[in-house]
Amino acid sequence: MSDYIVLVKQVPDVARITDNAFDPETGNLIRSRLASVINELDAQALAFAWRMKELSGQAAARIICLTMGPPMAAEVLRYGLSRGADAGVLLTDRALGGADTPATANPLAHAIRKIVAEILNESDDYYVVCGMQSVDGDTAQVPPQIAEELGISCIPYATGVEYREGRFRFRQIISGGAQVVEGLRRPAVITVAKYEYPLYPSFAATRRAGRQELLQWGADDVKPTAMGNAGSKTRVIRVFPPPKTSRLAKQVESVAELAAVLRDTLREESGPEAAGAAAAEGVYRLPGRRGSWFERPFEGTEKEINDFKQLAELLAARKLSAPEELSAELREEILADPALTLSPKIAAEMLEGLTHRESAYQGEVWVMAEHEEGALHAATLELTGKARELADALEVPVGVVLLGAGVEGFVPELIAAGADKVYLAQDPLLSEFDPLSWRKVVAEIFNAHQPQIFLFGATPQGRVLAPMVAYRVGCGLTADCTELAIRDISRKKQLAVLMQTRPALGGNVMATISSRNSSCQMATARPGVMRRLPPDPARKGEVVTHQPALSVADLSLKIMGREQGGTKVDFACEAIVGGGRGLSSKDNFSRLLDELVATLGQKFQIKAGKGASRAAVEQGFIERAFQVGQTGTAVGPKLYIAVGISGAIQHMIGVAGSGTIVAINADPHAPIFKQCDYYLVGRAEQVLPELISALKEM
Ligand code: FAD
Repeated sequence: MSDYIVLVKQVPDVARITDNAFDPETGNLIRSRLASVINELDAQALAFAWRMKELSGQAAARIICLTMGPPMAAEVLRYGLSRGADAGVLLTDRALGGADTPATANPLAHAIRKIVAEILNESDDYYVVCGMQSVDGDTAQVPPQIAEELGISCIPYATGVEYREGRFRFRQIISGGAQVVEGLRRPAVITVAKYEYPLYPSFAATRRAGRQELLQWGADDVKPTAMGNAGSKTRVIRVFPPPKTSRLAKQVESVAELAAVLRDTLREESGPEAAGAAAAEGVYRLPGRRGSWFERPFEGTEKEINDFKQLAELLAARKLSAPEELSAELREEILADPALTLSPKIAAEMLEGLTHRESAYQGEVWVMAEHEEGALHAATLELTGKARELADALEVPVGVVLLGAGVEGFVPELIAAGADKVYLAQDPLLSEFDPLSWRKVVAEIFNAHQPQIFLFGATPQGRVLAPMVAYRVGCGLTADCTELAIRDISRKKQLAVLMQTRPALGGNVMATISSRNSSCQMATARPGVMRRLPPDPARKGEVVTHQPALSVADLSLKIMGREQGGTKVDFACEAIVGGGRGLSSKDNFSRLLDELVATLGQKFQIKAGKGASRAAVEQGFIERAFQVGQTGTAVGPKLYIAVGISGAIQHMIGVAGSGTIVAINADPHAPIFKQCDYYLVGRAEQVLPELISALKEM
């Protein structure tokens, strides 16, 4: 009989975030100023566990909710108890606060061990079920890292479950589609990406939930080996508002006006901006390569940057050209200078930092290769381009780690994309991605060569593999980065460190993070954000072969079926019309979109094509290969027209490289309206025929 441990988290209600919710000094979120709710995906995870129990027919199976947080987090346990959970465990201790993902996963894994020992009578037949990510952390790293700490398997991105012949089958999202897998091992961690199954509180259970005693444990009860701020492997350098969108978000009032917008856009000379152009900042140079020794590309809070500038000006005024010239007297003089408003302690640390010239990390810059259906994932080529830029600044080689069976054919493409070395591990047991076997081989290659930077795509594969590898090799990891740059933190004597910038709190803020207590700086980066280099077939590179020692015991999944793109769609178009769930039927989808695509093509003599949201694909309106977005294809046409698409982040990531985005949506408050250039409020069935006529008549 399988039991279930469901991880639930109380989170700020980011849908109702207010301007005064941030501390103006530190940029930190003041949690008490926001309402708290259960993390939506954790509520879905509870429903998922409940459904697993129901499908298995094992009425005596136990569901135990576990949360880590302040005492008030007990509320989410009562939420669970009122919806079918048998017990609630609250892990609460000040010592656990301020933790990053490994320092969160570690105490939770130790609490799970204690639940298994004391409540589940040392059973090894249990599932840990949790939401794929929480809205406040967004990183999706904790569940795979719990699996790593417990030494058990992880089935990520689950969206459905069936029970056949005594075994569970899980439907999961993968890049470019979905697959059904059978877990070969128990216990296992299951992360739920989406599961809308109604789980209502009963009257009796709600009354019981109010009375039932919760188990409350502190750090001493579970004895984590890493926790809190001290056990963390990353630190937040600064938090800042997201850059203002360059999209116009302008409403057009009529179909005629919309037709004119499309015409003007398609006639404009300029093409779409290259994805990631925003990231182009000053190129980093190692200290030995700079004009002066106190020229430091310094990253910190705004105050720290200004402090540093102030000090640099004082040094420049004294015409110093090398640290050796900074005598004890000069140092005293500078520290006593009335122009210096920062504290002498900070100034002394900064001066001390300036004498430092060694890079904080050594080794190559690496990328983890991803491939599907016989082709490299676009994210791999983009990251290889980014790795090239970082490695050139650091004056080290770029390495790409390539796993699989019969994948040596990708080597020339990787070298042409910017790799100097390809670390190649091939084995029939690596022919399909399996988190357990892959993380073992990647960690072996990592330990043998010790890179200083290791980048993964923030894809369904990368977002489970990277956290497991990072935890296994003891390094910090920043998820879902949109910008990566090398900078100095002179005051901390950290030169040439990787600044990892990512959106946080549902995109309400940006955070720049750096690694600490780690031999390597690891990050996942969003597909479509970094820029790939034009392939250079003349580039030369080296293959470093790794022979993995794997057996079937290293596998955790059996793939029972897969739905993936199949036909290849040519998205290299000047205009793409993307259809969403709002088109409401397959007939509408093909009839309306095909005619608009054909009209655009004929009228403006351009190549026009069709795309779709994931929801449209799941509704069966169109084949999977047309899906645009995080788990589909990232597109970059001159004009993208989104029809009946709400504007979910996973879709918008895939169209961010478009020149102009136009949205047609029936809902006047559709979120896509804030992320596009022009929008028309209206029903697709009505707007599209009128638009097609207006274009034809132009
Ligand atoms: P909905 O969100 O249901 O929106 C439908 C819209 O149509 C609404 O805004 C509605 O107002 C409008 N509408 C309704 N009727 C009409 C009408 N008559 N005329 C005009 N408008 C109308 N999504 C992707 O697209 N690509 C991905 O690659 C992707 N990857 C994902 C990966 C993961 C791990 C997860 C968890 C999700 C992913 N998703 C992806 C799903 C994504 O979160 C959204 O669920 C999806 O994009 C929603 O599609 P939609 O906008 O078509 O549907």
